[in-house]
Formats: sequence, structure tokens, C-alpha cells
Amino acid sequence: MKGLSVLIYLDNAATTKPCDAAVQGILKGLEVFGNPSSLHRCGVDAELLVSDARHAVAESLGCLEEEIYFTSGATESSNTAIFGAFKSQGKRRHRVVTTTVEHPATARPIDELERLGCEVVRISPDENGVISAESIIDAVNEDTFLVSMMLVNNETGAILPVGKAFAAIHRRFPKVITHCDCVQGYMKLPVRVKTLSADLISLSAHKIHGPKGTGALYVRKGLHLPALVMGGGQEKDLRSGTESVPLICGFGAAVKSLAGDLNDRLERARHLESYLAEKCAENGGATLNYTGEKSPYVNSISVAGLKSEVLLHYLEKKDIYVSSGSACSKGKKSGVLAEFRIPVQNMDTTLRISFSAETTEADIDALFDGIKSAQAELAHLR
Ligand code: PLP
Repeated sequence: MKGLSVLIYLDNAATTKPCDAAVQGILKGLEVFGNPSSLHRCGVDAELLVSDARHAVAESLGCLEEEIYFTSGATESSNTAIFGAFKSQGKRRHRVVTTTVEHPATARPIDELERLGCEVVRISPDENGVISAESIIDAVNEDTFLVSMMLVNNETGAILPVGKAFAAIHRRFPKVITHCDCVQGYMKLPVRVKTLSADLISLSAHKIHGPKGTGALYVRKGLHLPALVMGGGQEKDLRSGTESVPLICGFGAAVKSLAGDLNDRLERARHLESYLAEKCAENGGATLNYTGEKSPYVNSISVAGLKSEVLLHYLEKKDIYVSSGSACSKGKKSGVLAEFRIPVQNMDTTLRISFSAETTEADIDALFDGIKSAQAELAHLR
């Protein structure tokens, strides 16, 4: 790989570069090597670091520290949430309501509940690619024990009406457990426990300039969730296993370093989103695939006549890094784009362009210079 200074990284929905504070946090967590469960000073020092990170995550969400449980990442958080809800409630009531645009970390555990006998209602976006709060609320009945819905879709950036739907569901059906995958919204949009009305929230550190391999699950106080990972009883017995102090410290440090300027970053991301739209219009061959209510950080575009993977690898040679659809799908065709009513002719030519706090207009200029030369050089492939 060439010098990092010229790398144009526009794949921040897949993962982000750890910030300096996170790297320092990880090092600190390695130096303080005790086991947080040990009763002696080495253990207490490590436990203090974990508590400090827990405090940072709790403060960022507006919840109690005791409501934050560290996990290995959002996939584990969502599995814990979904299977935990099933174990605690699913014997008496058996309906689950979700959407057709969830990340596999939510969709696959829910598929498994279906195999175990649950009735799963999956709500699709309407003809405009929008999921309304009403469509979710109307699918919930007395038999429902879980509603799971993401805040920001990882392929289009679409914002789903989580707060509105969950608040109404809680009013009508107080026993229903609500879960939100907040991975692409956390630290990017003003995410607060109160406004989401969620009982369970999944978070990931590596999408917010923290390390891979850690994340958190928010569990509303008073909700008892059975454990998925059992063992020594760490994380109040919800998630056993010695805490990864270095990764948790890195996570906490990333949260602290981002917490202060969320609105400024959001404003900058909105500006970049508009700039991207201008560049698409200027180019003529490039179009935005989703323009409904969305997060400015995640953008889906299509470049007519150039297959996603061909263009992705062409850009890679110029040190410009983007994603084709969703990185998690590893090149597999994405059903989610079709659910959002992305035109069929755009489906094979989709690129996901996702921003971070460090993205600049110059990065987008470089992207479009790359696209233009691909359009000229690869014209024979069209
Ligand atoms: N949910 C969404 C929306 C995501 O984008 C991702 C990662 O791509 C995940 C869940 C999984 O997160 P993790 O990598 O922390 O397991």
C-alpha cells in the first residue's frame, strides 16, 4: 500500500480508521494488564479503566452506566438482544416484527427464531423506499414479544422512524421488547435512549474510530435478559468472558473524542452529501440511488455502464477506496437495495460512498476524477 497521506478512504460505513485517542486508549489498556475481576490493585486499576469507558458510552446515550454491557461488537450485541428476548418472552408470545432492510447481524438471528417456530413479520419500504412508523406499529399485536428495527441503513443511509414507532408500540403494548441496531447512527446522529424509546440498543466501536472486536449493548434498567455467552459471570452475568480492557479503553476514548462536536460533524457531512450530489449531476453518468430522509454519512450512487466491482478495483488502483453495496455481503448481491426500490438498471453499478469526520471535498473531487477516467478507459466494457 502506498503512503497513507494519499489514501482516499470513502468506506467508513465498513470500518473507520482508529483515532489517536483510541490508539492511546488501547495502549493504556495493554499497560494496565490486570484482570478486572481480580481483587488486588492490578485488577482494580483495570476495572477502573473499564468503568471509565462505560461512563463515556452511557453519557453519550443519556443512560445509566449500569445499562451498558460491553460485547465483542454489534453482531454479538444484536444476537444477545434477539435470542435473549426470545428466551425471556418467546414462549408465551411468538410474533417478531422487523424490517426487510436489516443488517445480517439482526436478520439472521431473526431467521433462526423463525426456524424455532416464531411468526416473523418483515415490513418492506413502500414504493418510495420509505418505511413508515405506522407500518411497523400496525404489525404489532398482543402476540408480539419483539420489534427490531435499525436506525440508519448501512447500504443507503436511510433513516428509519425508530423513535416514533417504538414510543407508540410501548404505549399500546408495554410488554413488547424493542431493539434498535444503532451502528450507523451512533456518534453521527443525535442518538439518545429517551428519543429512541428502545429497550435494547446495539453499538459497535470500529464504526466510530474505535477498535474492531468490541461494542456494547444497552439494556434498559429493569429488563432482565438471559445470557448468550455463559461463564464467569462478567458484565453482570449477561456476557461472560474476561473483558478486553484494551479494546474497551479504545472504544471509550473514541466516544470521548467524538462526543463534543457531533453537530459540527453532522453539518460538515451534510455539506459533503450535497457536494457529492453536485458532482453526480455534473458527471451526468452518475446518479444518487437514495434521496429520502437519510444520514449524510452513507451514500449510494450508481455509475451507468460500469459494474460495481470493476469500478471499485479500478479506483483501488488509484488509492481510492469505496464499497460495492455493503462490505459485509462480500460481493453477494444485495437484496436490501431492491427493497429500497433502487432501479434494477442501477443495481449492478452501485457504489457506497461513506464519510467520516476526516472526509474532505478534495476526496470527493479525487473520486470523481477517478470515475471520469474509468468512464473513458473502460468504455469498451459498457
Ligand atoms: N449493524 C450494522 C448496521 C452494520 O453496518 C454492521 C457492520 O457492518 C453491524 C451491525 C455489525 O457490527 P460489528 O462489526 O461490530 O459486529
